[in-house]
Amino acid sequence: MTDNTIRTRLAPSPTGDPHVGTAYQALFNYVWAKKNNGIFILRIEDTDRERSSQESEKAIIDSLKWLGLEWDEGPDTGGSYGPYRQSERLEIYHEYINKLIAEGHAYPCFCSRKHLAEVRMERQKSGSGSGYDRRCRDIPPKEAAKRVDAGEEFTVRMKVPLEGTCVFEDLLRGKIEKDWASIDDQVIMKADGFPTYHLAVVVDDHLMKISHIIRGEEWINSVPKHVLLYQFFGWEPPVFCHLPLLRNKDKSKLSKRKNPVSINWYRKMGILSEALLNFAGMMGWHLSDDREKFSLQEMIENFRLEDISLGGPVFDLDKLLWLNGRYIREDFTTDELLDRLVEWGLNREHFGAILETCKGRMTCLSDWGELTDQFFSGRIPVPKDELLLKDMDEAQTIEVIQIILWELEKLDSFSKDSIYLLFKDLSEKLNIKLKYLTQPLYIAISGKAVSTPLFDTMEILGKDITRARIRYAIEELGDLSKKKLKLLEKRYNSLFGES
Ligand code: GLU
Repeated sequence: MTDNTIRTRLAPSPTGDPHVGTAYQALFNYVWAKKNNGIFILRIEDTDRERSSQESEKAIIDSLKWLGLEWDEGPDTGGSYGPYRQSERLEIYHEYINKLIAEGHAYPCFCSRKHLAEVRMERQKSGSGSGYDRRCRDIPPKEAAKRVDAGEEFTVRMKVPLEGTCVFEDLLRGKIEKDWASIDDQVIMKADGFPTYHLAVVVDDHLMKISHIIRGEEWINSVPKHVLLYQFFGWEPPVFCHLPLLRNKDKSKLSKRKNPVSINWYRKMGILSEALLNFAGMMGWHLSDDREKFSLQEMIENFRLEDISLGGPVFDLDKLLWLNGRYIREDFTTDELLDRLVEWGLNREHFGAILETCKGRMTCLSDWGELTDQFFSGRIPVPKDELLLKDMDEAQTIEVIQIILWELEKLDSFSKDSIYLLFKDLSEKLNIKLKYLTQPLYIAISGKAVSTPLFDTMEILGKDITRARIRYAIEELGDLSKKKLKLLEKRYNSLFGES
């Protein structure tokens, strides 16, 4: 391998469901690497110990494999620049953090959370930014080292210049400038000894010889801190290329309130991986003849980073369904499509789980169709009147259903037992009998008041379809305005603790 090898990376944080934005970034990194006979790397950024989980890592890996975007180096495949999971690289980060301290580019900070919160408040009030007052920046290094040795709790911050301007290039946007004075002395190591994203990403991208950083636009504001770290270490930064943000139809930033964002939802709805990839490819890029349907191979052959356009690409579900329909009709024989259907849900395992929920109510095998259609549909029609909670109107019902939705989203394991416990707890907290609380949910989830057991049905449908159906029910009831949602969220957080 020569030094000119194109090396790209996808660096997801395993802190939730696999996001369509991750698929979008993965695709562009994958395509750019393949186009140049380069290397595509998967790096798991799990430095947030509280929010990272193995289940999330597994789900991300699984969905990328389903999409067919396999990596050449990564936590499961290995490679010459591993480990590829940041929690396994702590020693490496410590070496570089110590180097920064020794060379005077970083310093231990002993400020308490309380002090930091007070400073933030004061500075906000006086309009002088919301940052840190740099109180520990001038502690003489010897004194700081003594306090560290004595076991005092500390974080490490980088010394950001107090004046001047940071200038860097983005491949799509050209020169970008930002005044140093607007940037805080960023924490690079937390009190738990874990590095923050900013330090880890720079060290890893350098050591893993990444040639191009292709990621979402939301990271642009972090680049000055990264550029400064490259400078401190005396390293050449990679090429920065920030992809335009995906947007909802109304042009706001893609959000799960307005659009499903989990790859699992698309998979469970029966979107084909080819169509989802093609659709992600259309976000900010197109073939020179403007043909909308193209294969991964065609994208690889024709792709150039500089052709990405910055107008906010809209993640339009109707368009995706249109494209998916074309794949179904044009690209598969009946036999091939049957294989996809079997893989999707027409298989023994899925049928077996469903049968458990309905065999008690079957009088003949042909009851199957009527009893189980909720398991094989996407959006189901719901009779609005039956969605109302006992003695409540639409506005009150929406609030309760929204709270149920928030609570379900917090569940780590989406099993019928944990869903049951959650509803039991909610029934007490909201002072609504369990049988009344679940009644509109039957309608939302199955479209009918009498159906397969609710919690079993939710488990089999999975978190994403369940969530989407509850969202549809809220929409059906008239939805919550942004303002009302904010107010409710406040009340919810005070009743149930921060979500
Ligand atoms: N861990 C970051 C994320 O979750 C990676 C950002 C980057 O690509 O630098 O998106």
